Amino acid sequence: MSSASLRSQTAELLGKLGVNSAALEGGDLAVFSPTNGEKVADVHTSNADQINAQIDKAHEAFKQWRTVPAPRRGELVRLFGEELRAAKADLGRLVSIEAGKIPSEGEGEVQEMIDICDFAVGLSRQLYGLTIATERPDHRMMETWHPLGVVGIISAFNFPVAVWSWNAAIALACGNSVVWKPSEKSPLTALACQAIMDRALARFGDAPDNLITTFIAEREGGEVLVDNKKVALVSATGSTRMGRQVGPRVAERFGRTILELGGNNAGIVCPSADMDMAVRAIAFGAMGTAGQRCTTTRRLFVHESVYDDMVAALKKAYLGVTIGDPLNSDALVGPLIDKDAANNMEKALEAAKASGGTITGGERMDVNGDASYYYRPALVEMPEQTGPMFEETFAPILYVTKYSDFDDALEMQNDVGAGLSACIFTLNVREAEKFLSAVGSDCGISNVNIGTSGAEIGGAFGGEKETGGGRESGSDAWKAYMRRSTNTVNYGTALPLAQGVSFDI
Ligand code: NAD
Repeated sequence: MSSASLRSQTAELLGKLGVNSAALEGGDLAVFSPTNGEKVADVHTSNADQINAQIDKAHEAFKQWRTVPAPRRGELVRLFGEELRAAKADLGRLVSIEAGKIPSEGEGEVQEMIDICDFAVGLSRQLYGLTIATERPDHRMMETWHPLGVVGIISAFNFPVAVWSWNAAIALACGNSVVWKPSEKSPLTALACQAIMDRALARFGDAPDNLITTFIAEREGGEVLVDNKKVALVSATGSTRMGRQVGPRVAERFGRTILELGGNNAGIVCPSADMDMAVRAIAFGAMGTAGQRCTTTRRLFVHESVYDDMVAALKKAYLGVTIGDPLNSDALVGPLIDKDAANNMEKALEAAKASGGTITGGERMDVNGDASYYYRPALVEMPEQTGPMFEETFAPILYVTKYSDFDDALEMQNDVGAGLSACIFTLNVREAEKFLSAVGSDCGISNVNIGTSGAEIGGAFGGEKETGGGRESGSDAWKAYMRRSTNTVNYGTALPLAQGVSFDI
């Protein structure tokens, strides 16, 4: 494909997905495809007044939506899932154009949206509270879950559609309205998602206006959302730097947050590991999505008895992996998102070298000229855990370090700021169980004989420490999108007080 055709191809795809062409021209925010660096649209951003007015309207929509029975709310999510199934190939391709993902990962992201819709539809009939034993005679105690309010979603470029859907599908089933600020690096997929949702809303028929809307803005627009008291919950996905700013600002006004921040994920390879399986899992975890997943494997601790074999197998994988334009090749590794990401990768590799690292790969590849940033993933042998290993660099760099004692490996794994995802490769039940125990991995996601990335929607997703502590998606993550009310009912004729307190007037 010539670079001149990508803009028109993108416009055509967006038209097919239902986005009005006026939204793509004459705006103040330029959108570039990382695949070749071409400017593919100029979209329109919202200012603070417009964003606040949109939140006011979302709050009005919430007041109506919370009265709609939850299973009926689930019907909207079901229709959205149907629309997504019809749009899967086109939306997946748009993800590839805007975020640079290879086709199976672009479509995989849309499949994740479909999966969360299925989950949320079922959930809409399962927003269970508890009945609790009460100490008082002729009383009943229970807890009830109620809708919360406006849910504001701030999302990152690297999962431009799935993260919104995780939040939106659950938030809607739970009776909330939704306002979304996507990453300024991926507004086109957001406009497409909104158009797809608008079709579901039209089929649904009687949802309140402005129930779920999107605005395009840079960071300042996100700040408006963060500071608006009508936003009951801010669900923010992005860097730890962003979370450090957003968390305290929302706390200041006693709003709620779900923070899904950076990861610095590690794997441990034990002497008994199934080496073939481990190499394949690590290769996907470390090189997949060009190292731009929050769950990307960034550090590897390999037992000294299998270190040489493991490093040799990984080197072969790193030197053999195909790197290319995801739009017109079957490469497994696509581009970095932009020049800043490339600079960060180069800086981290320099720092690794200065700390005694030996690098395989890591060189820039000329795929589509100077305006796009393709790199061979880097495998860096490090003498110990040091230097850039302590930070998340959002690029395909895997640091490998030898260990001799299992407890040391565990300690090194946990000795970083982030706490998102970790994995172990072992056939030894003692090592596996210790890894999963209270003294094992301190991450929100801990896997055995599976890599760090590629979570399913059924589990709660998120991490500890500098990853922010939030949980999204499956399990009981829905509770963060609702408020809990504890209710005690007296159906007797006396008024016994709890704890035996007497207060006779
Ligand atoms: P980023 O932090 O630069 O931006 C994320 C979003 O936050 C954008 O929409 C941005 O406009 C907004 N933002 C930034 N500062 C803000 C502020 N002060 N107030 C309000 N909004 C603000 O992140 P990115 O480069 O787009 O994404 C990569 C990062 O996201 C990585 O660190 C990655 O690990 C993380 N991430 C985490 C998860 C997770 O679930 N834990 C998932 C995806 C990405």
